Amino acid sequence: MRILVTGGAGFIGSHLCDRLLSDGHRVLAMDNLITGSTDNIAHLSGRGDFSFIHHDVTNYMFVAGELDFIFHLASPASPADYLAFPIQTLKVGSLGTHKALGLALAKEAGFVLASTSEVYGDPLVHPQPEDYWGNVNPVGPRGVYDEAKRFAEAITFAYRRYHGLNTKVARIFNTYGPRMRADDGRVVPSFISQALAGDDITVFGDGSQTRSFCYVSDTVDGLVRLMASDFAGPVNIGNPDEMTIGEFADFVLDSVDSTSSIVYRELPMDDPKVRRPDITLAREKLGWEPGVSLREGMARTIDYFRDR
Ligand code: NAD
Ligand code: UDP
Repeated sequence: MRILVTGGAGFIGSHLCDRLLSDGHRVLAMDNLITGSTDNIAHLSGRGDFSFIHHDVTNYMFVAGELDFIFHLASPASPADYLAFPIQTLKVGSLGTHKALGLALAKEAGFVLASTSEVYGDPLVHPQPEDYWGNVNPVGPRGVYDEAKRFAEAITFAYRRYHGLNTKVARIFNTYGPRMRADDGRVVPSFISQALAGDDITVFGDGSQTRSFCYVSDTVDGLVRLMASDFAGPVNIGNPDEMTIGEFADFVLDSVDSTSSIVYRELPMDDPKVRRPDITLAREKLGWEPGVSLREGMARTIDYFRDR
């Protein structure tokens, strides 16, 4: 197939491009590089089955020739990034998703939206199943991302119902791995960089909030299985192994064999207190579950950051 990946120069997008190419597809990556980098796809340049289009998807998207599928991943994803680019985040989730759906309609292509566990906000149901509608503060700082993704889901389902488009929605939970930016502010690259440099490990709040970390190849496999399935979703793609951020800090210190100290900083507003996916649907509909343990995935990720 010929497949477009918006956000293809980002962390997950670049791994998705690698996977689709190794599966034998032709891939176009489209990105405006606001939070991504051509470094992530530099190893693909010169290949006849890959091309890169530097474009902001909030503007009209033109792609010559046929397209079979669009993966729409374009959006800042780190809280620090979407707090730095609030308007761009709202625009890419709304206008950008509209443009990408319009292109899918024109090309009669399938469409996968990369949505997020943030649609559940600071969840009052735990773990989170797909039929939970969430607890989002629309006017808080995180609202720019959460509401943009909720709108993106709504317009994707509207295109499915109104136009009969073959759409799918994946709700991705915290994903980590090589090619995250060391300074993107997310907990995995932050703690690893701090531990490798011997700097203080900055735990926000008292560290009792929980997250569940999924290695990037598992997340990408879930997205590819969703494309191949006849299931529209929404479907949670994430690793149900949950831990507190305090436990994660200890785990990183131990894995890096670091002498860093843990320091406590103010918890950002509306930071979710718990997060863990219920992946019953992904197991049933996609035959998917994560296979890479935290120890193995973190070892690969730490190696990547150590090399840099
Ligand atoms: P990332 O920031 O590394 O990648 C996002 C990419 O989108 C970047 O390359 C960026 O330059 C590009 N982009 C942003 N706005 C754009 C625009 N207007 N036009 C074109 N390109 C644009 O983040 P990521 O972690 O790889 O996330 C990828 C997708 O997965 C995002 O949609 C994100 O919301 C979703 N997601 C990620 C996670 C995670 O834990 N990594 C969790 C839930 C959802
Ligand atoms: N966090 C932290 N220290 C950091 C960065 C993040 O304690 O230097 C916490 C953050 O407050 C949140 C969790 O780690 O509770 C995960 O944060 P991240 O930004 O990775 O993603 P989120 O799950 O909040 O979208």
